[in-house]
Amino acid sequence: MSQGNTEYRDVWVYCEVQDGELTRPTIEVIAGARKLADKMGMKVVGILLGSGLKKIAREPIYYGADSVILCDTPLLKSYQVLPYTHVLSDMVFKLKPWAFLFVANEIGRELGARVAYRTLTGLAADCIDLIIEDFVMYTPQGTKVYKDCIAQVRPDFATRIAKIFTPKHRPQMSNIRPGSFTPLPRDESRAGELIEWEAEIPPEAFAVEVIEEKRLPKSPIKLEDAKVIISLGLGVLKDSRGNPRNPLEAYRLAERLTEVIKQRFGVPAEIGASRSLVYAGIKELEGLIVKDRQVGQTGKTVSPDIYIAAGISGAIQHRVGILRSKKIVAINTDPQAPIFQIAHYGVVGDLYEVLPKLMEMLEERKQ
Ligand SMILES: Cc1cc2nc3c(=O)[nH]c(=O)nc-3n(C[C@H](O)[C@H](O)[C@H](O)COP(=O)(O)OP(=O)(O)OC[C@H]3O[C@@H](n4cnc5c(N)ncnc54)[C@H](O)[C@@H]3O)c2cc1C
Repeated sequence: MSQGNTEYRDVWVYCEVQDGELTRPTIEVIAGARKLADKMGMKVVGILLGSGLKKIAREPIYYGADSVILCDTPLLKSYQVLPYTHVLSDMVFKLKPWAFLFVANEIGRELGARVAYRTLTGLAADCIDLIIEDFVMYTPQGTKVYKDCIAQVRPDFATRIAKIFTPKHRPQMSNIRPGSFTPLPRDESRAGELIEWEAEIPPEAFAVEVIEEKRLPKSPIKLEDAKVIISLGLGVLKDSRGNPRNPLEAYRLAERLTEVIKQRFGVPAEIGASRSLVYAGIKELEGLIVKDRQVGQTGKTVSPDIYIAAGISGAIQHRVGILRSKKIVAINTDPQAPIFQIAHYGVVGDLYEVLPKLMEMLEERKQ
């Protein structure tokens, strides 16, 4: 849908529900939408689709939305991409939102992309921030300024941060990586309008029959909740003299450190990893350094109080996952490693020497 007029208004958030509650990433995206809407003098609208959602229909409002559009029908009991796409596209065509945001997960990625395609607009994937900016287009005929667009911030595929604009089309659509915004506190005194939407779904949208739904077991690795994360990178392969080391030694060091931190300070601590270490196929780390531990652009975005990067160079794809950490500590043998550009504390040294020293210090304090 092309811009051409000012009838496109408000920032919509596709709200995901699990176990009868809004998911945390949804609540984060509502906070991001709030930031945009306040700047633009617009409203935040939560979009809720499914069956049996009436009792939680006001939750998006409690978390910062101004209103909710609820499409509650047994037809939408199980998530299916085609009927959901149909309902959302229909809403977009009729109500003309200015922006439409999704969570960057399995559902948000496929649903948002399909809605964008159907409604003839663009979609910026895997965003980590959203800012209002003018977009200047340079053409041979001169420059054209598109006022107040959303700069959809995400890492590019190399070494930089990119800003993606959708200057000519509306809605501006993005999916947002979990961990990118801080949720607003839940406030039951917030009032807002609840609009019920009648779904008109053509029978051909139900091309798939859902026979059974099964929940995948939850991962015991909770990087998102950890207050301290000790992350390991390919630096575990050798020491500062270039001698090969058994990477399991580094893992056990990190494991002992997390245990001491949990006992000493009573806070959750976890082991993280760079993508290169996860996919290095190191036999000794099989079943220990798994995908759920990966931090970064294609892993998790984390926001601990302390993030310790040991033997990690600090490529942009890793850095974008740790920017919201309160304190970053880097341990690296190379003083030029990019991780030092964002570290609050840097130790130029061998992780095989520094981690045991850190442990000694913590254990001394414990006594
Ligand atoms: C589309 C795309 C998505 C990506 N997504 C991610 C992602 O989500 N997460 C991610 O991490 N990466 C991601 N990457 C990969 C990323 O670009 C880097 O290749 C990766 O982060 C490097 O991992 P590393 O720091 O462990 O390894 P390296 O870059 O090899 O760094 C190892 C570091 O260890 C140091 N070192 C060596 N020995 C020691 C020692 N004994 N003690 C201390 N330091 C030592 C070295 O000086 C070096 O700085 C992605 C890449 C692309 C293209």
